[in-house]
Parts: sequence; C-alpha cells; structure tokens
Amino acid sequence: MMTALREHLLNTYEWLTSSTRREIVQQFSKLKSWPASVVFYHRVAESVANPWSISNDNFVEHLDLIAELATFASLDDTIRTQQEKSRETHFVAITFDDGYAENLDRAIPELIRRKIPCTYFVTTDHVENQKFFEHDIARKEPLCVNSISEIRWMANNGIQIGGHTATHIDLGKPWTHERLLIEISDSRKKLQDWTGQEIAYFAFPYGFPKNMSQAAIDMVFESGYRAFVSAYGGLNFPGGDAFHISRFHGECGTASLHNWLTMDPRKIGRKCRLHYKMPTLDVKPIIENSVELKNNSKPTILAPMQTGLNPISISSIGSI
Ligand SMILES: [Zn+2]
Repeated sequence: MMTALREHLLNTYEWLTSSTRREIVQQFSKLKSWPASVVFYHRVAESVANPWSISNDNFVEHLDLIAELATFASLDDTIRTQQEKSRETHFVAITFDDGYAENLDRAIPELIRRKIPCTYFVTTDHVENQKFFEHDIARKEPLCVNSISEIRWMANNGIQIGGHTATHIDLGKPWTHERLLIEISDSRKKLQDWTGQEIAYFAFPYGFPKNMSQAAIDMVFESGYRAFVSAYGGLNFPGGDAFHISRFHGECGTASLHNWLTMDPRKIGRKCRLHYKMPTLDVKPIIENSVELKNNSKPTILAPMQTGLNPISISSIGSI
C-alpha cells in the first residue's frame, strides 16, 4: 500500500516538473554534459522481501527502463568520461553490494545474456566462510551469500568484481591501521586471487559520508583501488570527481528509477556531501593522457557541476 502511494506521488511529482526536466535534458545534450547514474542493488530474489531486495521481474523492468531512457555503461566508462569532462549520452552503470546467493537465480544471468556491464561488490569473509550478514541476522532473516566459485564464475563471465571489505565493518569508525589493512587491502588481494583479475573499485559499507573516514579512504588508494563508490544518492557529472562515484538505490517499483532517469531537478543541483583529500601517491588514471597524478602532488577534486538550480536536502537513501 505504501509502495503504491509512493509510486503515485512520485509519478505526480514527475509530471508536475516535466517542463523543467525537458529544459535540463536539452542543456545536457547541447553541452554534452550528461551525468552518469550508478544504481546499486543488493538482492534480486523472490523470497524474503526486505527494503534492500526487489523481485526478478521488477529487476528486468528496471533493465528495460534503463535501456529505453539511457545507455548502459561500466564503471570504467563512467570514470573515463568523468576525466574527459564530456558525456554525450546519459550513462547508467549497474552495481550490486554484499554478494547474495539469489542474485544468480536470474539477475546476473540476465545481465550476462544482455551483455550489460555490472560491478559486483563482495564482502570476502562472508563469502569465504559462508557467514550471514549481521544486518540480516538482526532482522531475523539470515540470507545465503555467494560462494567463492560463484564469484569466480561471475568474473569469468564478464561481471566486474569489486571490494566491499572483509567483514562489512563501518569504516567511519576509528579503526587501527592493521584492521584497515585487513578489511581493505587484504580483502582486495583475496578477490584478485579468487578471480585472477585486477580489483579496481571499492564500495564503502553503508555508504554515507559518516561511514567513510579519511584514514579508510587513504587505505583504499594505498591498496591499489582506482576509485570508490558511495551510496547516499547523487549523479556524476563529467569533469567532477573521478575518484569518488555517487550511487543511488534501485528501489522496488519503477517510479523512483524513472524519476532519477528523467532528471529530477531537485537532484541536479545537489552539492557533494563528501569532503576528503586524496593521499599523496600514484593512482593509475583510467585513460591515457589524463592528468597524471604525481608523487607528492595532490590532485584537485572537483565538486559536481552546479547548474544554478537550488539543491535540496538529501533524503535518507543509504545502503547496507
Ligand atoms: Zn554492504
């Protein structure tokens, strides 16, 4: 009932703001400054519906909607066009967090079949030891996670694997250097061993600015990651930050996704809420001839493009 009401209200809001949306789209096309949207999912499944799951049919509806309104892209494409400061179409990248077993029932095979790029962020300790997540145990709904062989199978079939810590800790807390090494660096090495691939991207558990300390961000880049992703909502404008990529939640239903994909004016003018400094080390650029990051020089982190539209407060989106 709440979902139906929310869908109705969002559809009404979208209709009321349709002329502003058209103007925004015209401006993006003219300036070749389309944003990249990065959607995050956790679990696509038929059983045990929770706020972080959607059904298989609903997920396919999302894919169809994205195919109709935008262009599928990888995180590599997203970051490359951030660096190039130009994007001719609206890119949408698909990501998953945590590593739930049921995603392999239909969602991941569907992505592979359609050749849709996807980055799948994995919590290594849970996969290795087949442990339930604390947040699921707290809800009295323990849910199965992927196995190592499933992660390897996905990697071999074109799914990009990413890091999501070893034990899904809140990295906003003041952990020791040793613990950060285990959670961020060692878990990355483990994923590389499992898949035989470079693990380029890291997703912060929970994904709000309060869940990301500067020490953890330093460790992400010192470990060899090229960029990290958050989960508190937001678009990525070309010329903006190429080391931190904002994501929004792929909520059940279709109204929320449709609202994002048709350029909600309230989301265009949002200011970046995360402020951090890059560590002083070499970070491999995604594209050649981009601005080289040299030792002892800090790259300039640009704020997302501002359009002059009024930003609004950010609703509680977040991740697990
Ligand atoms: Zn998570």
